Amino acid sequence: MILPGATLGMLGGGQLGRLFTLAAHDLGYRVVVLDPDPDSPAGRVADEHLHAAYDDPWALDRMVQGCAAITTEFENIPAETLERLGASVPVFPSAAAVRTAQNRIREKTFLRASGFPTAPFAVIRDTQDLAGAMAEVGVPAILKRAEFGYDGKGQARIATAGDLQAAFARMGEVACVLERRVDLALEVSVVLARGIAGQACCYPVAENEHRNGILDVSIVPARIDPDLAVTARDMALGVAAALEYQGVMAVEFFVTHDDELLINEIAPRPHNSGHYTVDACASSQFEQQLRALCGLPLGDTRLLSPVAMVNLLGDLWAKREPRWSSVFAAPGARLHLYGKREARVGRKMGHYCVLGENVDSALALAREIYRAL
Ligand code: ATP
Ligand code: MG
Repeated sequence: MILPGATLGMLGGGQLGRLFTLAAHDLGYRVVVLDPDPDSPAGRVADEHLHAAYDDPWALDRMVQGCAAITTEFENIPAETLERLGASVPVFPSAAAVRTAQNRIREKTFLRASGFPTAPFAVIRDTQDLAGAMAEVGVPAILKRAEFGYDGKGQARIATAGDLQAAFARMGEVACVLERRVDLALEVSVVLARGIAGQACCYPVAENEHRNGILDVSIVPARIDPDLAVTARDMALGVAAALEYQGVMAVEFFVTHDDELLINEIAPRPHNSGHYTVDACASSQFEQQLRALCGLPLGDTRLLSPVAMVNLLGDLWAKREPRWSSVFAAPGARLHLYGKREARVGRKMGHYCVLGENVDSALALAREIYRAL
């Protein structure tokens, strides 16, 4: 067990790294953040910030020398970096798990081969694959680049063979998956933690609403049949076990109109839809990430209150600074801002949670606050 007082390494300096760092500080750990951005949200609160590239040999050596264990907040960390660090210090999640999750072809192929339900998909590596993929998947479909997509970026809607050809060309003919567009009743997600001896626990299911491909609102508990929630949690734990995963991960699901669950994707890290755990659970997903990394017993995932979480995107700053009084004045509302200086459209600047008697009242108040912001 790695105990308080130790220094932990975080690869990536975004808001997930920042919230991890704050949780680690609460428990008496020190944190070194590696991020090439000199002004990253996590770097600003870390004990030490190495601003260097994720494959910079000097920075990686420094992390190995200074850290008792290392984790990541960002699935696009080169798997080679995790491998290299992992040769000298404990690194979780493992390079192998991150390698699977960071490439949609490997991820979806792994899920399908392990018997987990996904939307119909086909792999496209060059223009010769287009016609076959289209025939296999059908329309409407979505073309997604295999690597470096996030928040719906690197995706195109496809209705015709012409669309597919044009979209693949626009993406620079990089490796992609073509995925059937599912008629969604709902989207839900499960965040879970898995420790060293394979002991695992998961949080309640979150119900997620997206806007323009970006998570907008999560509410917990999800308004789904309790049996379906059990199935989602079991499936998420099954995926983690199949990956021999150690750490915190999230599984995103589509729910069809026939109450069928399809796995959309997995994230080898804490997840935006798990931010509610900071304000509404006995242990947060970030504390859990630390516990799993340090070999401590996993924390209590119990939900203490129904909750709604709302993301604050840069769009909100377009005309002026949001009117924060609306969130400060609301009972049960808690604001988290990530300290990003520049508010760009679509950029995640912060979020707030609203605790309520039930999810409907929490959501109603959350929306009222948003209008007044
Ligand atoms: P994020 O980083 O927010 O998870 P991402 O870039 O990894 O996003 P996806 O999760 O693949 O992208 O897609 C983003 C959103 O687009 C989904 O949450 C869903 O709302 C919609 N979407 C993606 N694929 C499909 C599909 N096959 N059918 C229907 N909707 C889809
Ligand atoms: Mg997603």
